[in-house]
Amino acid sequence: MAIIKCPSCNEKISDKSKVCSHCQYDFLNKKSSTGMNAEQLASQKKMKHIKRKYSLQMQAMISIIMVLGGALLWYLSGRGLSSLSAIGGIALLVMGSALYLTTRIRLILFRKSS
Ligand SMILES: [Zn+2]
Repeated sequence: MAIIKCPSCNEKISDKSKVCSHCQYDFLNKKSSTGMNAEQLASQKKMKHIKRKYSLQMQAMISIIMVLGGALLWYLSGRGLSSLSAIGGIALLVMGSALYLTTRIRLILFRKSS
């Protein structure tokens, strides 16, 4: 008896088992409990990956817009700390920068993991 990895959930199982004890993946028909075969599961995984990457890139874009918007607001408010809108602009700039940095780090970690 050998131990293999389930193609559906990656849990260790016996190669003699016909159905995965973790996710009910059917080895005889090569189908998971949800009716998907290994190929479909792989493409679903890929889709999730693309969606995740897309949402991180969107977040990076939003943070850049926040920084630019904040800087513009501050600039148009007289470049000081005299008015509420100038302070708001600075706040937006700082928040956007923080969001941008965390998103960049998450993107780097994400690329490393894939
Ligand atoms: Zn499984």
